[in-house]
Amino acid sequence: MSKRQVPVWAIAVNAIAGLTIAAVIVAQFLSTQDDCGDCQTSIAEPQETVSKEDGVSEKTFGAVTKARLLAADEEPGSWMSHGRTYSEQRYSPLKAVTADNAQNLKLAWSYDTGTTRGLEATSLVVDGVLYTTGTWGVVIALDAKTGEELWSFDPEVPGEWARYGCCDIVNRGVAVWEGRVYSASFDGRLFALDAKTGEPIWEVNTIPGPPYTITGAPRVVNGKVIIGNGGAELGVRGYITAYDAMSGEQVWRFYTVPGDPAKGMESVELEEALDTWKGGRWWEIGGGGTAWDSMAYDPELNTLYIGVGNGSPWSREIRSPGGGDNLYLSTILALDPDTGRKKWHYQTTPGDNWDYTATQHIILAELEIDGVQRKVLMQAPKNGFFYVIDRETGELLSADPYVTVTWASHVDLETGRPVENPAQYYKDGTRFILPSANGGHNWHPMAFNQDTGLVYIPTQEIAGIYALTPEWTLKKEFTVRPNWWNVGLDWTAYIDAINELGEIPLNHGYLKAWDPVKKEVRWVVEYEGPLNGGVLTTAGNLVFQGTADGRFIAFNAETGALVWEANVQTGIVAAPMTYEIDGEQYVAVMAGWGGVGLPSGDARQTAAAKYGNDGRLLVFSLGGTETLPDLALRDLSIPEHDEVQATDAQIRNGEIEYMAICSLCHGALVVSSGVLPDLRRMSPAVKEHFQDIVRGGMLKDNGMASFGDLLTEQDVQDIYSYVIKRARQDRALMQTQ
Ligand code: CA
Repeated sequence: MSKRQVPVWAIAVNAIAGLTIAAVIVAQFLSTQDDCGDCQTSIAEPQETVSKEDGVSEKTFGAVTKARLLAADEEPGSWMSHGRTYSEQRYSPLKAVTADNAQNLKLAWSYDTGTTRGLEATSLVVDGVLYTTGTWGVVIALDAKTGEELWSFDPEVPGEWARYGCCDIVNRGVAVWEGRVYSASFDGRLFALDAKTGEPIWEVNTIPGPPYTITGAPRVVNGKVIIGNGGAELGVRGYITAYDAMSGEQVWRFYTVPGDPAKGMESVELEEALDTWKGGRWWEIGGGGTAWDSMAYDPELNTLYIGVGNGSPWSREIRSPGGGDNLYLSTILALDPDTGRKKWHYQTTPGDNWDYTATQHIILAELEIDGVQRKVLMQAPKNGFFYVIDRETGELLSADPYVTVTWASHVDLETGRPVENPAQYYKDGTRFILPSANGGHNWHPMAFNQDTGLVYIPTQEIAGIYALTPEWTLKKEFTVRPNWWNVGLDWTAYIDAINELGEIPLNHGYLKAWDPVKKEVRWVVEYEGPLNGGVLTTAGNLVFQGTADGRFIAFNAETGALVWEANVQTGIVAAPMTYEIDGEQYVAVMAGWGGVGLPSGDARQTAAAKYGNDGRLLVFSLGGTETLPDLALRDLSIPEHDEVQATDAQIRNGEIEYMAICSLCHGALVVSSGVLPDLRRMSPAVKEHFQDIVRGGMLKDNGMASFGDLLTEQDVQDIYSYVIKRARQDRALMQTQ
């Protein structure tokens, strides 16, 4: 395994991924603390939908029912829910494409989404129609055989909402149920669309306002649409809501963390949780615990499993200074899907202090452990341990490191708790910790192959930089300066640390085949950089994965041998899926790099820096005959900028403000991954209008909102000075190489 040297900025950004540049003024932030009450704001005129009177023969669009979903293996050519089945294994029984013939895969068709931002959706295929999402929650329906567009739906999210996202304006897909397509927009609205026409049937606002956002795919269980939300980096209180699929009426809501104790708890589960929060005023920032991605459902147990996210702020010294586990942060919840009541919970990271979400992909399977067949739940959350849990009782069966872990020595199977490493504790200074806030594994879906018994996990090893000083703890600046200072870390110490570092060796991505019974890695593939795509596995003894550097690859599921790879010019973070029409098996993947870690990477690691980031749906088959047009390489030279007169103090202020406000999109140390503009290459027009853009909101419709509520004119001038200084440094460096 080679050790590569990676520039410090890459690690810097990775270490803070999951944060946001987005910022919210105090008033907005406070407004989010209001009880949502009846968030439902508009239900459109009910439109004609598929009805029983129309007869079964009419149900040709999106006719997914519970019975059909439970029998999904009887129609392996379809992919009817997010992880194909309720167990979310992302294993397809299709085997026309195998490890022996996959080298003949060719592009069958592609669809240009028109975006250059991240694409994270898993497409669904039902009754010959492929449903997927682009950015913002745009929904697209295509003929799954030809790629012809049938309809698209744009929720028309205002561009300035981009600043409320920690991790790009992404969306992970739709749910299809009884003639309707369910999708959520980035600004928190849930839609029921007619599967045949894309016309909205109803619309519900699920959030009180920013900085809540939604990037996850809804699931439908027992006629209820389940959806969570995100925003814990900026400060929100997480919850999951179930809506009646037909009417859009709210059925239940489960808050994941207690609100203001003075106002009383909404549920017995929160009464139980309240004792685990001690001191602090977490409710002022929200406490976090957003459930922004993973769900799975066991129909026999009638149990819905939901992964819950990190604390807000990250630092428990600020959030809950008296200690405590802070339930239900970083927890797997087992809920009754009909009532929203809790059956059990298992907290992966008690007292989360690192952005160690448990929102990562949850897989349900049957495993033989110590000679006993067990119904298990498997998860590889950010904290670096792979968990196998009895999904009926919540009993921990095993928890073993699937990547390098330094924050804890191990998980004690008796107590079910991780044993923290005191040398890594960062409350009195800077520590380099593995995994980083990016996680050993993030949202990029893993997959479980029933034939090999292996779980294929997209993993990464990135050192996180965590810093807290006693002075900073006392400042509690999140109450007055709610941008990514809100996570509670001392970012001035952080910036000093990354400036002083030369190079950091740990910044790798891997695909690991993990044996969940033997609790060991069977095989591993190493990539140049982290943040590669989600995974699909098939009965054809294959594992498919896309990469940050723009390749789409098939591996032998048993051995890890490379079977096929295609240069697709666009980096991939989404998970592939597969379907069959008229006897032809297709493998589809959304190509468009971004999401968490949006600004990290460089021209050696990301296709975005090399080629741009043309967002496409790519569909391959053995009978494919298409090719992608050749793309020109980007000009990565840095233009000459005149020196700007500024004092050292002004440059320092610009550096800190840039890191706090700008870097999560444009890149730490002003080096972009290529997805969003690299400011070292600013055009004369952008330089001329720098104040108009940053404070005036000139480009807000593009997603570059005004930050005039956080930055003074002098701050913006200082940022400009810092950016120009960095550009001149790097231009000089390039000219000497
Ligand atoms: Ca987070």
